[in-house]
Amino acid sequence: MIRIYNTLSRKKEEFIPLEEGKVRMYVCGPTVYNFIHIGNARPMIVFDTVRRYMEHKGYQVNFVSNFTDVDDKIIKKALEEGVSAEEISKRYIEECKKDMEGMNIMPATTHPLATQEIDGMIAMISDLIEKGYAYAINGTVYYRTRRFAEYGKLSHKNLDDLQGGNRSLLVSGEDEKEDALDFVLWKPKKDGEPYWVSPWGEGRPGWHIECSVMSKKYLGEQIDIHGGGEDLVFPHHENEIAQSEACSGCVFSKYWMHNAFLNIDNKKMSKSLGNFFTVREISEKYDLQILRFFMLNAHYRSPLNFSADLMESSKNALERILTAVDNLKYLSEHAKVIKLTEEEAQKAEEAKKYEQEFDMAMDDDFNTADAIAAVFELVKFANTYAKEGSSKAFAELLQEKIEGLCKILGIVTEKKAELLDEEIEQLIAERQAARKAKNFARADEIRGLLSEKGILLEDTREGVKWKRA
Ligand code: AMP
Ligand code: ZN
Repeated sequence: MIRIYNTLSRKKEEFIPLEEGKVRMYVCGPTVYNFIHIGNARPMIVFDTVRRYMEHKGYQVNFVSNFTDVDDKIIKKALEEGVSAEEISKRYIEECKKDMEGMNIMPATTHPLATQEIDGMIAMISDLIEKGYAYAINGTVYYRTRRFAEYGKLSHKNLDDLQGGNRSLLVSGEDEKEDALDFVLWKPKKDGEPYWVSPWGEGRPGWHIECSVMSKKYLGEQIDIHGGGEDLVFPHHENEIAQSEACSGCVFSKYWMHNAFLNIDNKKMSKSLGNFFTVREISEKYDLQILRFFMLNAHYRSPLNFSADLMESSKNALERILTAVDNLKYLSEHAKVIKLTEEEAQKAEEAKKYEQEFDMAMDDDFNTADAIAAVFELVKFANTYAKEGSSKAFAELLQEKIEGLCKILGIVTEKKAELLDEEIEQLIAERQAARKAKNFARADEIRGLLSEKGILLEDTREGVKWKRA
């Protein structure tokens, strides 16, 4: 039984899907005006892992995550560069996808773009107006917040407290609102901004309506899990609930999951504070798997502090797992005995308990920190009991177990070992010797081996030259 901490109830609840065997999941994606930073990477890694675990448990997961490709920040960046907003968003969606691949994040079932869904947004806003939940004034459409009786149920905020706090937030142009709590669904265009034609004039949608519309279109009116960073609880997710539930009359998402923030020097990492690293910057120093592994070492609801020291220890810890897998591979390739011995069969049985521990940790609100601890126990077990003389079956079985658990976490166990220059030179010399001895098979084998590692050879008059691909 999987238990999920639901922000809505502030409790861990048993996960019961709306439809047996299926999970419908929506995760708010990034606004694409720059390279993503490692704070943005946290929800990506967390919810990709949730998805993988659900799949491991046999669920068919429909995973939808948007790109917000129309927004003030995108427009500002476009103006700065003198290019179109579309050029900016397209560029950073591509870059984001590269980073995601590096972090081994599975592509969503659907990655909708806000700008491709404007018709749906106009339809939903019209529906809200018809139902009395929204009103248009001079080209702006507002949501009538007080009309939605349950407003505040996700963030556990009281409307009157909000009213007091919100008054000072009233910005110019918003003074036509009926109530300070009302939020924007559609805003009129300004010069030089992208716009779409609507019943309320030319303009563009507000941010909150996007997710309600895309979630409904690709997952239906009701979904199982809605996720995002904890800063989205209010107002973004609260507003999504108000929009979706006012339209449909039914509960929008059963479970609301929020990851805590990634901090740096114990301060929130954010673009506005300027204290952030992009995923791309980290990839110049580390394999991005290490970043993923680092994030999963903490529970997703715990704040996580980023530091070079912690990255180094994550690197070493991950290396221990990869080395164990490598050793098991070596043992199975060189084993003299094929089948499991009786004693090994017993040990194999014993090793199942680590898989159970792993699942128990993950069942408990996706406790990846404890799940990784179980992987390490299994690694220790493998290092202790698999040795020279072990059967091929035993080494393979342990390797599969470790790899199986790592795969659920999205960790690839293949070592991406790089050859050192002197190793390359040695192999080239060996190849030359093999050719001289007319051992062409060996010479070809070495060329193949080098090319697998991304080393290109070129035979020139001055000898063999090589370069890294
Ligand atoms: P944004 O592009 O700002 O809309 O953010 C995209 C996602 O990243 C949202 O789910 C945010 O909650 C999340 N996020 C932004 N900064 C951080 C951070 N420092 N730690 C964890 N999540 C973050
Ligand atoms: Zn959203």
